[in-house]
Amino acid sequence: MLPPVKKDRVISQLPRCFSPNAALHTKDGFHPQVKAVCQFQRTATVSFNIAKVIVVGDVAVGKTCLISRFCRGAFDKNYKATIGVDFEMERFEVLGVPFSLQLWDTAGQERFKCIASTYYRGAQAIIVVFDLSSASSLTHARQWLEDAMKENDPSSVLLFLVGTKKDLSSPDQLSQVEQEAIRLSEEIKAEYWAVSAKSGDGVREFFFRVASLTFEANVLSELEKSGSRHVGDIIRITDNTDAHRRRKRTPQCC
Ligand code: GDP
Ligand code: MG
Repeated sequence: MLPPVKKDRVISQLPRCFSPNAALHTKDGFHPQVKAVCQFQRTATVSFNIAKVIVVGDVAVGKTCLISRFCRGAFDKNYKATIGVDFEMERFEVLGVPFSLQLWDTAGQERFKCIASTYYRGAQAIIVVFDLSSASSLTHARQWLEDAMKENDPSSVLLFLVGTKKDLSSPDQLSQVEQEAIRLSEEIKAEYWAVSAKSGDGVREFFFRVASLTFEANVLSELEKSGSRHVGDIIRITDNTDAHRRRKRTPQCC
């Protein structure tokens, strides 16, 4: 039996986007059908629900620090390269339903790319990370996205473009990079966020948004698959990844 979800991981309202110019959607609340299903789920069988999220981007842009800041509430300024892939599970409760994000942290080095890419498949969300103080890392974002999309169905993946190390840029620098990042987000249909793992600025809000939007998409896709027209038709929100059963492991070779 799993321990209860921590109080600060309870989501009862849809969190706001970072920028309405580059958002997956700007609606004020969860989809009415999702709210209705969750209401029903509280009194029916609720199965464990999970979303696979992969985090990609150039080496040293801050992928590992971003995940650690959210999952452990800490920032480690000493750089430790990620070898191959690593993952963290983060449990939430969304609209009263247990929901987990499985966050796959990948290595940005060229030599680990082929290992990491084998873990891209079956993602519900792709987070492309770039460093707000490095223009080249934003230029490379498109390539990271293309690589990750090769293994996934574009119609069912939510994309996020996240600029990190916000603490290092002046407001002027930031607004310049943001213009470019928002333009790219619009083009690739991603939701844009700017955060700092060092100060924690925006990190919690960002992951809450990822959890909420993937949850909403999962429930809507379950409803569609089951052809349910009425809320009562759906009994279980099923777990649609098998990857969560795999244990945390470091690949041996490419
Ligand atoms: P990864 O290779 O993308 O996983 O990068 P890491 O998360 O390991 O971070 C690379 C380096 O950037 C480390 O030295 C971190 O201390 C630093 N770093 C990461 N996030 C931030 C941030 O938000 N602000 C600042 N100032 N440095 C950061
Ligand atoms: Mg790393």
